[in-house]
Amino acid sequence: SEEKSLNFIEEIIDADLKSGKYESIVTRFPPEPNGYLHIGHAKSICLNFGLALKFGGKTNLRFDDTNPVTEETEYVESIKDDVRWLGFQWAEELYASNYFEQLYGFAVKLIEKGLAYVDDSSSEEIAAQKGTPTQPGIENQYRSRSIEENLQLFADMRAGKYKDGEKVLRAKIDMSSPNMHMRDPLLYRIKHATHHRTGDAWCIYPMYDFAHGQSDSIENITHSICTLEFIPHRPLYDWCIEKLEIFPSHQYEFARLNMTYTVMSKRKLLQLVNEKHVTGWDDPRMSTISGMRRRGYTAEAIREFCERIGVAKRENLIDVGLLEFCVREHLNKIALRRMVVFDPLKVVITNYTADEEWLQSENNPEDPASGNRKVPFSRELYIEREDFMEVAPKKYFRLAPGQMVRLKSAYIIRCEEVIKDAEGNITEVHCTYIPESKSGEDTSGINVKGTLHWVSVKHAINAEVRLYDRLFKVEDVGNAEGDFKDHINADSLTVISNAYAEPALKEDGAEERYQFIRKGYYIIDKDSTADKLVFNRTVTLKDTWAK
Ligand code: ATP
Ligand code: MG
Ligand code: MG
Repeated sequence: SEEKSLNFIEEIIDADLKSGKYESIVTRFPPEPNGYLHIGHAKSICLNFGLALKFGGKTNLRFDDTNPVTEETEYVESIKDDVRWLGFQWAEELYASNYFEQLYGFAVKLIEKGLAYVDDSSSEEIAAQKGTPTQPGIENQYRSRSIEENLQLFADMRAGKYKDGEKVLRAKIDMSSPNMHMRDPLLYRIKHATHHRTGDAWCIYPMYDFAHGQSDSIENITHSICTLEFIPHRPLYDWCIEKLEIFPSHQYEFARLNMTYTVMSKRKLLQLVNEKHVTGWDDPRMSTISGMRRRGYTAEAIREFCERIGVAKRENLIDVGLLEFCVREHLNKIALRRMVVFDPLKVVITNYTADEEWLQSENNPEDPASGNRKVPFSRELYIEREDFMEVAPKKYFRLAPGQMVRLKSAYIIRCEEVIKDAEGNITEVHCTYIPESKSGEDTSGINVKGTLHWVSVKHAINAEVRLYDRLFKVEDVGNAEGDFKDHINADSLTVISNAYAEPALKEDGAEERYQFIRKGYYIIDKDSTADKLVFNRTVTLKDTWAK
């Protein structure tokens, strides 16, 4: 809304538009296709696309694919899926690799201006000559090569004359700059590797710092938004644009999203996948968008979360509980209510003589438009074992000998008898029902405090339910002692393999969201089969995490 105050990036854009610096803005989301997107990327996506939507403009999806060794087409596809699923549509799908020829030309231009040179030093030598933040670096003998020699050597690098690591192209800036990134940074390295898009056309690849800003400029990006760790790269970003005399994109930095009880670096997420701590990138415990989607989080909830955390200039750690709160809020509005019993105790209604009847139950009391469903009732039911106590304390409002409860959308029942096996285990509970107490037309005049969920034994369908907990035991995994994997929560998944569900659950689509009454929010998992439905718990009904 317009009254809402602008964040610092919005203020910059607002001023740039009002001053006439730009007529409209162009932003980009620039993932490297070396892994699946995570919730931190969602923050960047919502920010970049959100700005263009808010101020009028467009957002490109640009793959920063300059490292052939780690990048794959599978990742490109997953990234596109995730951005679309989050609800955003890019203006153009672009690749830094599309600009390899142009970037090569830019490098040649720098050489021609005497602003870049080919260095034969090894990476160790380059590192040693770089100096330290308090000590200037050393200018080596290659720095004074002639422009002609540099042009020839760079052409030879491209032509494949040299092996990996034999030569690099560096910018000639300032070996004593207080900013280490300005001490003749590398622009190109030799890599004889097949690129997922350009194949073997190239054996030299631009460094991130040389490709990124120039790609922004080629696309006329007005506001290039990245995370705080790129602040020291900004002088180099500006230097390249100035020396190449190309469109002046500007870089702005905001604090990356960090969240409790999880990790968000693709490198770490890849380790979790490769070492099988999780089942894959889309494991519902992962901080990936695909994991969260599989778990049942909604795009709306993720966007709301990104909106609520805002855009900060300083690093912070966001409580994952806030994300779960947003998910719960949205699901409460849209989830269909269903009954599922996880740990069954059989209840026999001894005075129920009909074969069965189909009762009406509302799909979602928060949404009258969602209508009703039919729920079968019969003589034998399952209730949750934990909803019965043989010896109940005072103020126990669930089922106990002599006590009455309401069965949700059905009748009031009274517990008459407890049946046990030879070892004394309770096998059944015998009850009577009050025929006049049917929900919606109750004339019994009886008031009960407890309402239980239940399913009819002969109509129940078998389901597997997967309950997820946090993947890590510590809040701040990134700053916890030792290896991050030392803090993995060994109990992050509990499987209930024999739950009993009401039959309506068989009829809905795969994307449907559910509230299992008194249990939590759930979604069907892709592992479901015709014989067995599998559900993921998206989030509990209330915040039950013990702090
Ligand atoms: P990672 O360290 O997880 O591998 P990355 O920054 O290397 O992430 P990129 O593919 O380069 O991953 O990221 C694409 C965009 O998303 C960049 O603009 C980056 O700044 C942004 N981004 C990445 N992680 C976060 C985060 N945690 N919070 C906000 N933005 C992020
Ligand atoms: Mg990156
Ligand atoms: Mg990375």
